[in-house]
Amino acid sequence: MRYLILSDIHSNIDALDAVLEDARAAAADAVLVLGDLVGYGAEPEAVVARVRALAPAAIVRGNHDKVVAGIDNDDGFNPLARRSVALTRGLLSPESIAYLASLPQGPLAVEPLVEICHGAPFDEDWYLHDEFDLLEALAASRRPACLFGHTHVPLAAARDGEDQLRVLLAGGGEHGEVTFAEGGRYVLNPGSVGQPRDRDRRAAYAILDADARRMAFRRVEYPVERARDRILAAGFPPALAERLMVGR
Ligand code: ZN
Repeated sequence: MRYLILSDIHSNIDALDAVLEDARAAAADAVLVLGDLVGYGAEPEAVVARVRALAPAAIVRGNHDKVVAGIDNDDGFNPLARRSVALTRGLLSPESIAYLASLPQGPLAVEPLVEICHGAPFDEDWYLHDEFDLLEALAASRRPACLFGHTHVPLAAARDGEDQLRVLLAGGGEHGEVTFAEGGRYVLNPGSVGQPRDRDRRAAYAILDADARRMAFRRVEYPVERARDRILAAGFPPALAERLMVGR
């Protein structure tokens, strides 16, 4: 089974379409979505429609999906994110808002090798940034490969037996690949499709081959100026447009 892994699309249809085009060669059998379909970008309705058309084998909600759907408040959001929530709601059909509200909370077990969550397996809204958090995530995960998003930074870390944490991949750079050793435990973030934050503005995604026990991290160029212009035209805060240009 080969999975296409998408996370943090954030209403960026230009990035999503570039990823889907790039991923065609990988001929994935199924799609896994790690949450935050919407927020920040200008095309939430198109992104929700595209994701629904992909019929994901598994999908979990992100913090932005929850707030936009009205099932969580925006207390934890900064002013930019709050403004984006209000605008995003106005761009979504009631049907798409209902779809976002229906998305399940992670973690979700997908198959014997893989589980997915948005932030962390122990808390869907937690940011896995430091070594301590990654170790806690490895301890909490119920599958050898625990996929997460939320930080918008590609990352792979592992623990084999009693060994200490090993960071195998962090941030942008060229295409990386991680092979899962028998008995190893892994936490893996494919990076963000629609709002990368590792100073690489290219869209990020991953292909996980469960039979080969391997995950490939991919980056792809997309028309970032078009995404920026859409954000500005829709009246979102300009900072949300400019950060796309530099991947921050
Ligand atoms: Zn996000």
